[in-house]
Amino acid sequence: MVISSASESGTGRESPGAGQPWEVDRQWDSPNRNLAPLTTCIDAEGRLEVGGCRLSDLARSYGTPLYVLDEATLRSTCRAYREALEQFYPGPSLALYASKANSSLAITALVASEGLGLDAVSSGELLTALRGGMPAERIVLHGNNKSRQELALAAAEGVIVVIDNWHDLELLAELAPSLGKPVQLMLRFTPGIECHTHEYIRTGHLDSKFGFDPDQLEPVLQHLAGCGWARLTGLHAHIGSQIFELQPHRDLAAVMADALALACGLGHPVSDLNLGGGLGIRYVASDDPPTIQTWVRTVAEALATACQQRQLELPRLLCEPGRSLVATAGITLYELGSRKQIPGLRTYLSVDGGMSDNPRPITYQSHYTALLADRPQAEASDIVTLAGKHCESGDVLLKDLALPPSSSGDVLVVLATGAYNASMGSNYNRIPRPACVLVGGGEAELVQRRELPEDLLRYDLLPARLQPVT
Ligand SMILES: *Cc1c(COP(=O)(O)O)cnc(C)c1O
Repeated sequence: MVISSASESGTGRESPGAGQPWEVDRQWDSPNRNLAPLTTCIDAEGRLEVGGCRLSDLARSYGTPLYVLDEATLRSTCRAYREALEQFYPGPSLALYASKANSSLAITALVASEGLGLDAVSSGELLTALRGGMPAERIVLHGNNKSRQELALAAAEGVIVVIDNWHDLELLAELAPSLGKPVQLMLRFTPGIECHTHEYIRTGHLDSKFGFDPDQLEPVLQHLAGCGWARLTGLHAHIGSQIFELQPHRDLAAVMADALALACGLGHPVSDLNLGGGLGIRYVASDDPPTIQTWVRTVAEALATACQQRQLELPRLLCEPGRSLVATAGITLYELGSRKQIPGLRTYLSVDGGMSDNPRPITYQSHYTALLADRPQAEASDIVTLAGKHCESGDVLLKDLALPPSSSGDVLVVLATGAYNASMGSNYNRIPRPACVLVGGGEAELVQRRELPEDLLRYDLLPARLQPVT
């Protein structure tokens, strides 16, 4: 692994990306700086391949839309986090995968096999993590409104519970007597740090629904000191997502070290500081995120320094990458369908999916990079708008995309869809969810089967009096 010796300007600016979308930026060897999965290449016939599998063949075999996950990219990202933590942090450390980015048994198993932990925010994600083979002691449960059932499941399994508010504490205090053992807790607070990302995905500023207000930190720590059922071993904060800046993470380390001093002073055995996730990725060529190595080094050095200044023993450093861990490993394949040309205005090209498999453009106005699977190198002489197939004018995946001449039936690839696509997807318009295949070494394996229209009727019940008269 090449370790970045990039400038520490604090802006995260390092280098322009590689030339073509499918070219891997070997200089930095940080998957989040690439647009495409690390194994992407052009085969002898000029067609795109990922994990040794030709993409148009995958589309033919498995149908479209299709999520494709590159095992090599996912594993290298896990290793990049683990190795950078080992290299730059003098104490113990653990990266936890924020599974809300993309939760499945296969991803859990891969991440667990790389030695990472996982964060879950619901009983669904928790169940996926446990069944996927993630050891309970490497799982943390988040959430600003956890149910009794979610808390009970976590506590019974020995998962670390991140308390977010007084309501969590009240529910846990009710549950605790039946558990017969203390519940291991982490405490989330709002660090009051601003960063420049989309309003919906900022969480560290004071006006956030997540975590205890900083004013509450001392009272809640005092309260917990009197709770025999609770064992507070960690503190947590998360400042947001798709962040390219480094300074907010440095600031966070200092705020967390102050909180650690406070908690230890009140007698809590706090040994874990969890600094959340948030590292951004490159969705389009102009995005310029720091490498994983630079991000980890920044966080690690800031925390080590902040602890030394306060004469605190080095805590275990936890972080929770979601997007930067899975986004680049994933791509989506669509088939091009109808075309509508509005002279002098716009050409709409429609794909066989859209906001149900990728709700980010309509939710966050996010940008993506797309290519033709079989003609990535052809001159991109058409300017088109890629529309989804849903009944919503805003269901547009990409505006003003330069694409080579194309026709219906062509396979289109959208890059960097591994995070917050499948996991945020829906069945809007009763469109079944895509399948997902894991690729590597020229093999493809189905890891999520395609939903069928019949699956969508599974939970519908028709009262007898409404049944069609035959
Ligand atoms: C969303 C979230 C993460 C992951 O954020 P990314 O930007 O995807 O890395 C980590 N921790 C918490 C608590 C989160 O809510």
